[in-house]
Amino acid sequence: MTILSLNSPTVELQALDAAHHMHPFTKGAALAQKGARIITRADGCWLTDSEGNRILDGMAGLWCMNVGYGRTELADAAYRQMQELPFYNTFFQTSHVPALNLAAKLAEVAPGDLNHVFFAGSGSEANDTNLRMVRTYWDELGQPDRHVIISRWNAYHGSSVGSGSLGGMKPMHEQGGMPIPGIHHIDQPHWYNEGGDLTPEEFGLERAQQLEKAILEIGPEKVAAFIAEPIQGAGGVIIPPDTYWPEIQRIVKKYDILLIADEVICGFGRTGNWFGSQTMGIQPDIMTVAKGLSSGYQPIGASIVSDKVAKVIEATEFNHGYTYSGHPVACAVALENLRILEEDGIIERVRETTAPYLKQRFESLADHPLVGEVKIVGMMGSLALTPDKATRAPFKAEAGTAGYICRERCFANNLVMRHVYDRMILSPPLVISHDEIDILIERARKSLDEALVQLTAEGHMQAG
Ligand SMILES: *Cc1c(COP(=O)(O)O)cnc(C)c1O
Repeated sequence: MTILSLNSPTVELQALDAAHHMHPFTKGAALAQKGARIITRADGCWLTDSEGNRILDGMAGLWCMNVGYGRTELADAAYRQMQELPFYNTFFQTSHVPALNLAAKLAEVAPGDLNHVFFAGSGSEANDTNLRMVRTYWDELGQPDRHVIISRWNAYHGSSVGSGSLGGMKPMHEQGGMPIPGIHHIDQPHWYNEGGDLTPEEFGLERAQQLEKAILEIGPEKVAAFIAEPIQGAGGVIIPPDTYWPEIQRIVKKYDILLIADEVICGFGRTGNWFGSQTMGIQPDIMTVAKGLSSGYQPIGASIVSDKVAKVIEATEFNHGYTYSGHPVACAVALENLRILEEDGIIERVRETTAPYLKQRFESLADHPLVGEVKIVGMMGSLALTPDKATRAPFKAEAGTAGYICRERCFANNLVMRHVYDRMILSPPLVISHDEIDILIERARKSLDEALVQLTAEGHMQAG
């Protein structure tokens, strides 16, 4: 069998990929026909593909490359750890230095009394841990009926059966028998699409109060937890109205329901603070982290757990864990990543300099005829595409048609931006420079211009 290399012809790489590699969230047949874009190298905020194109990565990989590509310190940390101790487990009363150090560091940077860490290999796994942990918590407190977890439609919490059920992605639920029982979904605080005639403030309150309604319908004695992303990421970077989170916090407190903040995207500087919970002013009982925890250099996730919950869980044997919980190489790399975030002052720079600049430049796209709304917090933003700016109308074409066309134009212009239905989303590496932001905005505007031409030509600039 031939092993291909970075220098192999693109068509050969694409053919072998199509023959054997099954891609996540991809229509395989369509991809095979078109051929995958093959990424070969990366540095800073820039990707290189097998054709030698230099592509600006406006998505930080998959929301994770917080410190950017090409950090040799992280490669060195992995190399050192692999030589010293490439693997050992953390089951059955053993530990190792990278895991205990990383747990302590996370306890230091996490807000409030979130002082305990249960490791996983990914965000999905960490949310599976959370699902079982909150139910076990109430069992141990003698309230075994408290098993319902409330989540939101269009939330993303991962792709395993447990985490995918916690999530509210209907196309995912349609495949493979999800959601599992005991999970209840309420509506999302997506004012632009669903707010109707309410002001954002009124709408934020209304959506938060759906949580209270759901709790009362289900019965407060049956509800274990509420899980949410401080800002929905994969759902389309949906930034809730200011009224939303304070009301949610009031409600979970009133009914003594555990709050799980899924910080997989919002964590580690993305919103201009260590965690999105700080930006949104909430105090969760558990935080899910992954992605930016290692800046994507190693697969690792974790649940960061409050004193209150950990005390109950640790008093029993929690029959749960992953072979790679606290993997030493992943922990060593994550620890080094946190050191870089801290010592290079990356989060403060985001908050004080880069994010305000990106906001100003990103918001300049609001005047584009295709753009109905521009929203951004820290280094995560989105823009709504619309055929009619005045009314926030959706397109008559199937949702996602315009977004897909716009994304393809971005790709063609060597900019990675994704689309979620007809919303374009942005989440660049936190180390992006002002010059690179200028390039990003220039390419985004060009892509919007081209998308508008194509949408008009194809008769899609019609409200539905
Ligand atoms: C990506 C993501 C997950 C899942 O993480 P994986 O590492 O892909 O399993 C969970 N929650 C949120 C908010 C995410 O964005």
